[in-house]
Amino acid sequence: ADAELLLQTRGLSVHYGGVTANADIDITVGAGEIVGLIGPNGAGKTTFVDAVTGFAKSSGEVLVSGQRIDRASPHRRRRVGMARTWQAGELFADLTVEQNLAVAVQRVGLRALVTDVLNGSRPAAGVVEKALDVVGLTDVADRRPDELTLGQQKLVGVARALVGDTRLVLLDEPAAGLDTHESLAFGDELRRIAATGVGILLIDHDMSLVLDVCDRLYVLDFGRVIASGTPTEIQDDPAVVAAYLGSA
Ligand code: ATP
Repeated sequence: ADAELLLQTRGLSVHYGGVTANADIDITVGAGEIVGLIGPNGAGKTTFVDAVTGFAKSSGEVLVSGQRIDRASPHRRRRVGMARTWQAGELFADLTVEQNLAVAVQRVGLRALVTDVLNGSRPAAGVVEKALDVVGLTDVADRRPDELTLGQQKLVGVARALVGDTRLVLLDEPAAGLDTHESLAFGDELRRIAATGVGILLIDHDMSLVLDVCDRLYVLDFGRVIASGTPTEIQDDPAVVAAYLGSA
């Protein structure tokens, strides 16, 4: 049985002046699936996330749950249940974990809830609580980022993307800076999140994390998909080995 298709791109292309940053990219992410997007520096991974989420001008089609959204604003795309994280995903240092998430709720457009949280009461619909629960951070809701481990801080970044009935998250190097042990624990959390039915597109340079946690992978090189398949298939693919050695 095929999982529900959350994200599909068809012929997605992005040009920056003379540079083809994304060329004809066809990718799918299903519900509950963790799909990796890997490739050497400059391959076009962040550009792909920018294009899908509406932050880069693109041609081709982007469908979320079967609905064309490639002409919609980033804000509208966020409201159809798709969210991203940013490479430098700073948290607000002076706000608690819960308040950081409340800000994210506000940005999705659920303003009434924000007022509740900032006033110290529980938000009516439990949107923040739900996101905290999914990433296992309920116990640290009242702490500030500098009182958390780096791994927990990274999970707050993920939780921020999950608020507001997010079905699909695009994570741009969410584990950057974590050591091997922390990265594995982070991967376990991603699996738990996916098990709730969320689809995850994961960009990361940490190959052990990506190979360990992803169901399927796409490999980009010079803006083009040069290989796709399971982690096992990808590791043995000569084109992939060549792309990585070529950039070393
Ligand atoms: P990294 O792993 O280093 O983050 P990446 O795979 O995410 O790299 P992108 O950042 O998407 O790669 O860059 C793809 C190409 O597009 C590169 O040649 C880059 O220089 C170019 N590029 C990216 N953003 C812009 C921009 N805003 N204007 C012009 N060129 C850009």
